[in-house]
Amino acid sequence: MAQLTPEAIVERTIALADRLGLRPAGGNRWRGPCPRCRHRSLQLRAGDRGVLLTCWGGCETAEVLAAAGLGWAALGCRRLTPEEREAAEAAALERAKIAAVRRQERMALAGRLRALDAGLESAARQLAAICFAGAAGNTAAAAALYHAGLAQLRHLEARYARLIGDAPRMAA
Ligand SMILES: [Zn+2]
Repeated sequence: MAQLTPEAIVERTIALADRLGLRPAGGNRWRGPCPRCRHRSLQLRAGDRGVLLTCWGGCETAEVLAAAGLGWAALGCRRLTPEEREAAEAAALERAKIAAVRRQERMALAGRLRALDAGLESAARQLAAICFAGAAGNTAAAAALYHAGLAQLRHLEARYARLIGDAPRMAA
């Protein structure tokens, strides 16, 4: 495929934006819903060598194109050689593997946060019980509950610390 002229790239960008239901956002940019992740995170821009497609929701260009039933030709990119295609497919596979690991890490983190929420709720209930026991004049029961509540909070604190230790790796 021959290199497109700047005018042809803009024309192609407009046609693609129209097909994907995007709206002009100024500066030769169009924004709107991503056909893959459904977030309003898709951006098209007329680049120097073709249409630049970005999903700020984290979708790969190939995934967005596939979800819209389109190929790379829709962006005005030249056809890849078999070697380039193979390299691109290997790279895409590698990215998909990394994305799957990240998704699993996020799900594990969400599960641990839910467990922490449940722990905090339990600690709050325990503290409320201490207040009741204290109000009833049962100081021995109040002291026992207080120590149990404290141990639980220390346990939660340690879990939060571990979780925070995990966070930078997951954001990378
Ligand atoms: Zn997306």
